[in-house]
Amino acid sequence: MKPKVLTSTSRVNPEILDLYETSLKDMADVRFSSFQMTDEFLKELRDAEALVVTLESIGEEMIKHAPKLKIVARYGVGYDNIDIEACTKREIYVSYTPGVLSKAVAELTMGLMLCLSRGLIRADKRVRTEWNKPNVAQPPFGTDLVGKTLGIIGLGRIGYEVARRAKAFEMNLVYYDQVRREDLEKELGIKYMGFDELLRDSDFVTLHIPLIPETSFLIGERELRLMKKTAYLINTSRGAVIDEKALCKALQESWIAGAGLDVFTKEPLPLESPLTKLENAVLTPHIGTYTSETRRAMALSVIENVRKVLSGKTPLTPVPEQRGKTFRK
Ligand code: NAD
Repeated sequence: MKPKVLTSTSRVNPEILDLYETSLKDMADVRFSSFQMTDEFLKELRDAEALVVTLESIGEEMIKHAPKLKIVARYGVGYDNIDIEACTKREIYVSYTPGVLSKAVAELTMGLMLCLSRGLIRADKRVRTEWNKPNVAQPPFGTDLVGKTLGIIGLGRIGYEVARRAKAFEMNLVYYDQVRREDLEKELGIKYMGFDELLRDSDFVTLHIPLIPETSFLIGERELRLMKKTAYLINTSRGAVIDEKALCKALQESWIAGAGLDVFTKEPLPLESPLTKLENAVLTPHIGTYTSETRRAMALSVIENVRKVLSGKTPLTPVPEQRGKTFRK
């Protein structure tokens, strides 16, 4: 009997599910599930050797029901939904898909910046509703990106791609990271700054850090009050790195000029969230990697990791916490 690969169907397009099935069928029985904690799902877990997951929580309790599990392959790069310690203790590999998605997330980040700086959402609405009407008031001016300071918090893979793009827009680049990157400072002409100083000096602040205990609520009332009144905040990392309540207050009371958000504390964002009422917020439904090319590249990375582990090897891209580890199963 072939080993069973249980694949989450939530937030995954049918063509990607087809790709999993066709690329793995020579060595595995690929099954699909919505990963709801039903009796049927728990039964499916019992003989699963690989799980392919998007944003589902994979914790100690769930993996207890999967005695044969060898790998949890995350379709994405943020793995805050997976209990790495519990998986490592059980000698279950956890892989992710770093790198292949960085440019797509950087492109969305630039898109959100342009939406805010040029009021694109409002401009589109104006053409559809009032541009042709006589005597309508002129909208407020937009703002140039050229010459503005972009503060990048987290100069990792995605932060780096954002910096490269922003450099082409002739922005001044500054960054804050727990690791100083002198190589990138030379390559990009980007300047290292302390966290508070970056918040005070930047016209745009963009977040590219992982969600870990140290970064949870990294941006709260204190930080938002440090920012310029004319500054914009962009978040394409994880919702919980911002205190969303404080951000709503900041946007309502104009402590900052606006925010571009692809990620939220609770997803899907509840319609009753005050964010949905704010004109100075541009909101996208967690689509950082949502292009056909990137989603396919991510799926191929998942497939490679699953194939490696099911054939007794180590995954190609294990999460950093498991780098260099070999499990016996
Ligand atoms: P990465 O690991 O390459 O970069 C993260 C950077 O953050 C590193 O340079 C690291 O040193 C820095 N960092 C970590 N903890 C820090 C701290 N406490 N203070 C300051 N800096 C800190 O990761 P990446 O591939 O660039 O991805 C970043 C994040 O983007 C992911 O963890 C994920 O949550 C998010 N993401 C979102 C989407 C989306 O669809 N919106 C898609 C992909 C990734």
